[in-house]
This record gives sequence, C-alpha cells and structure tokens, in this order.
Amino acid sequence: MAVQYSGVRESKEGRVNDFGGSSLQAAEKFAGKCLKRADRSFAQGLQCQQINSMACLMSLEDSVFISHSPQGCLGCTIMAVDMYRVGQAHRGIKLIKNPRIIVTNLDQKSVVFGGEQKLREAAQKAIARYNPKLIFIYASCASGIIGDDIDSIASDLGAEYPNTTFIPIHCEGFKSKVCASGFDAAFLSINKYILKKQKLPTVPNLVNLFAPTTVSFADQKEMERMLSLIGAEVNYIPFYSSLEKIKRIPQAVASTSICKVFADEFMKTLEEDYGIPYSHTVMPIGIRNTDKWYRGIAKVLGKEAEVEEIIEREHKRIEPLVAKIRARLEGKRVFICGGTGRSFAAAALIDDFGMKLVGLETPTYDDDAQVDIEYLNGIHKDFVVDIANMQPFEQVNLVKKLKPDAFIGVPDWAAKLGIPTTHVLDGKRPTMGYDGLLYLGNKIADQLSNPGFNKKLAEHVKLPYRESWYEQDPFKFIVGV
Ligand code: SF4
Repeated sequence: MAVQYSGVRESKEGRVNDFGGSSLQAAEKFAGKCLKRADRSFAQGLQCQQINSMACLMSLEDSVFISHSPQGCLGCTIMAVDMYRVGQAHRGIKLIKNPRIIVTNLDQKSVVFGGEQKLREAAQKAIARYNPKLIFIYASCASGIIGDDIDSIASDLGAEYPNTTFIPIHCEGFKSKVCASGFDAAFLSINKYILKKQKLPTVPNLVNLFAPTTVSFADQKEMERMLSLIGAEVNYIPFYSSLEKIKRIPQAVASTSICKVFADEFMKTLEEDYGIPYSHTVMPIGIRNTDKWYRGIAKVLGKEAEVEEIIEREHKRIEPLVAKIRARLEGKRVFICGGTGRSFAAAALIDDFGMKLVGLETPTYDDDAQVDIEYLNGIHKDFVVDIANMQPFEQVNLVKKLKPDAFIGVPDWAAKLGIPTTHVLDGKRPTMGYDGLLYLGNKIADQLSNPGFNKKLAEHVKLPYRESWYEQDPFKFIVGV
C-alpha cells in the first residue's frame, strides 16, 4: 500500500536546504548523493510554512482564517494581504477587502493551561460576525507543542455549526524548514475535508490551473489565454477562487501548476485519488520555460500538434521584440534570488537576453533543481549557489563580493547596496508567458538605465552589518555540509 504523504517536504529524499558554493560543486555533490542536509550555526529568521498555508488560501471567498498561535506568527501575512488587496484592484473590485484573519493570541497562560477554549471562542466569534462557508484553523509551533487538538475541535464545531466547513491545517512551523511544505499541508486538508475522495462526473476540457498568491492578474490572463488556445476551460485555483471552484477540482480532465513547488504534491494525489493526469514542468518565465510549460500540459490533453503551431506563431511574434531587449541587456552580470520555482525560471530567462549569471539564491535544492543547475552550468559555466531560506546576511555579503550589474529577485537588501534591482516575485505586473517575458525584459533594462533611486537609497540607508562581515566567507555559518 502506498504510504500517504505527510506534507513535510523533508520526508522525501533528496531535498536539501542549506548549502553555499559553486554551481559545479552543487551539481556534482547532488549527483553523487553527497549534498547533505546541513544547518547553520547562525541564522537570521526563516520563512515559516504557516504563512504559505495561509497565503495560498487567503483570497478564497466566504472564508475565515483562524491562526491558533501567538500574534507574532501573523507578522509575515502582510505581504500576502498586500497582494490580495492589489489583486482585487486589478480585477476591478471597487470595495477592496482585507482577508478575514483571526488570531487566538496564545500566551504564557495558554501554554501552561491549554489554548483550546480560545480556539473555540475565536470560531464562535467568526461565525457570529461573518457566518462563513469555510473556516480554516491553522496550527502553529505553540499549539503543536502544547498539543491542542485542533482536529477534534474542528469536528465538534462542525457538528455545532453545520453550515460551515471547519478545516484544520497542520502547518506547525517547526515541522519543516522547507516553506513550500505549507502549501502541501493546506492541500492535504482540502482533500480530506472538502473533496473527500468523491468521484464526480468529468467536465470535458476542464483543466485545474493551480496558482499561488504571487501570480499577478496579468499573468493569470496570459496563462488562461494560452490554455484557451488549446481548447481548455480553466479552473483557476485556489487564488481568487471559491468553495464551488474547489469542489470542481475532481471534475477536471487534467491539472497543471504555474509554479514548480506549488500543488506539485497535490497534483500527484489528484492522480492517485481521482485519476486526473497532470503536467509538472517549470514556471513559464522566459521563452524556453514557457514552451516547456505549454508543451507539458498540451501533451496531457493530447494537443501536441496544435501547441507546436501556436508556439511557432508566438516565437515569430515575440523574437524580434526579444532581440531589441537583448541589445540593451547583453553581457550584463546578474544575481538572482527568489522562491524555488521563480529563481530557476528567471535564471533560464536571462538566456533570452544574453545576460551572465553570477549568483543564484534559492530556498531548496532537489531533483528538479539539479536538472536546472546542470542546464545552467552548460551556459554560464560556473556561478555561486546559495541554498538559503531567507538569510539576508549571506546575500548581502555575496552581492558585495560578486558586484553584479543587476539583481533580479526579492530586492529589499540588494537595493540598499545601490544595485539596480527588479522584483521577480511581482504579483502586480506581468512576468509569465510570451507577453510577460517582454514586460519583464524591458523592466530589467529600464532599471539598468535608471539606477538613481537605489543609488540614493544606498547613500542614505545603512545595512546592519559591520564592514568586517563583508571580508568573511559568506557561508562560514553553514555546518555539516
Ligand atoms: S508557527 Fe512557529 S515558526 Fe511559524 S511563525 Fe509561528 S512560531 Fe514562528
């Protein structure tokens, strides 16, 4: 009997999240099974999986999100809330809403005497205020350590309030250092409490398109346009969706995801439990990746011939425009930092523009990363790889040493070093598909032509590190490699 996936990414072999060194070394060690799960003797925060569990569902209609945790656990939600608000504006919504998030505020007393009563009261208040169709209950380190039984409480509450579905999500931060585990925890619960392995009649051409919070409305439209060209009706989930759309998941004829580490495990479950085939390839950023992504889903739908015609047409349309951007960017040295899906996709994108990769920071390394690194090693020869969930101290040290012309990624720290930066986790503008590539390329080139803002920022903002840190090995705190 197949072992049920626990939702913890480390439970599967070959997933590494602490390494620093050259790309050739990373590929060689991984191929020889010598890339170990290391650790850091000093670390500066870690993105917690709870935020990913919450962010991926935050825009579901008619839902309340209860975090059974101390208040601080919700600090990170600000970015997802911002994306949700901007996403509403882009979709033409006039009355912009915040997500309905409630925190049970576990404190010292709760840790000693238990916090279950607080959770019940929070749920009762959520029902009284909003009477939602769905209430998600998020575990945290504190609730997990004191052993509050969120499953039983959700079951009791479900009996008391039959019009609401209560969904506990086991995303305690301590369970995983790979923040993408949070997506898996959320999807495991959706399968268990909403879909419940019920087989439904198939809807011809219906395709599940899984998208995380960071996908812009422009990218959603581009992906939907591309899929509609091969005859698919798109069920875009869970971002900006609803209970009704979630319930349609088992009716699809195929699934695919916009991100490599989003819903990849869930799509395997959908194949096992509901017989829905899927395509898991890459994030569609850059020509090569967009082609690969498109061919992947077309193959599952049996539309290989149609997709080749479309790809040929699209290449003809955009290649002259890409050549113009290439003339502005060729030979520029780039450092890339992003989530696992975006960082590798963006690294392939810079091929389109003839840029040179000097450094890559990404939270995890696995079989998929190995394929990408081997491909990138063939083009860029050798570059620095930092496998790090956050850890800005390593990033600024590296960026100072490597002195790239441009930084593509989450830009907060590099911008303060005065380097031209382009945000690759841009939930507000296009980055994906054939049109996204043009927009992103022009954005990088514009940043290089107009670096004034970051230069001024660097003159006025001091990073919190001593000069002596920049002279040291950026990876000196990684132990047990
Ligand atoms: S769940 Fe744990 S790791 Fe996550 S924010 Fe709360 S305390 Fe931190």
